[in-house]
Amino acid sequence: MTELLYQTDSYLRTFTGVITAIDEANRGVALDRTAFYPGGGGQPADAGSLTVGDVEYPVLRAKKIGDDVFHYLGGEENLPAVGLQTEGAINWERRYQLMRTHTAMHILCGVIFRDYGASVTGGDMDPLQGRMDFEFETLQRELVDIIQAAINREVEAARPIRVKILPRQEAFQIPDLIRTKINLLPEGIQQVRVVEISGLDLQADGGTHVANTSEVGQIRVVDYKSKGKINKRIYIEVLD
Ligand SMILES: [Zn+2]
Repeated sequence: MTELLYQTDSYLRTFTGVITAIDEANRGVALDRTAFYPGGGGQPADAGSLTVGDVEYPVLRAKKIGDDVFHYLGGEENLPAVGLQTEGAINWERRYQLMRTHTAMHILCGVIFRDYGASVTGGDMDPLQGRMDFEFETLQRELVDIIQAAINREVEAARPIRVKILPRQEAFQIPDLIRTKINLLPEGIQQVRVVEISGLDLQADGGTHVANTSEVGQIRVVDYKSKGKINKRIYIEVLD
């Protein structure tokens, strides 16, 4: 089982861990703890490096398999052995862009629900760009500028972002979480990680976020598309 260090500290860039399993065929290495985000919830996995002794392996991506996070190594060097200690470093520039982008998407969700009552149904992101799907029948061209101004006001408002890990029963009592389909969580999950943009948005979420909306910087609504009468897709860009 891998301890997920990024869940309680999104700003952790380096860490030490012990190798607990090897997937020879795919050059995968599982660790007892990691700061690498393994992908999920629309946020891509981290890349970076693992150093064992004097060998530095590039980590091309990470992935959660069961309770373990595997780190897939590039290069040609022989794989390290189970039981060895490793120093991990994530590609921080890319990760921080993803944190800003992920928080931008939650700002968008929060504003659209608050101002139009429209619920989000899905989303996907790359560094500094994202798209989100909403049940938002009344979305039209004239609203794009209004939405863009509203989300940037939330950036300027410098709202703090808090992450909490709550017992399942407690999380189920929070009305705001019900609307984000928390009831779809598998029964076996006893703890729910909750990401709150103070005064704006509250979601069950496993991703990494910045600590304050001011870190996101300027957001641009690039485009939108109708995916049917009710379903609309909104594209955003975070300016560097
Ligand atoms: Zn999210």
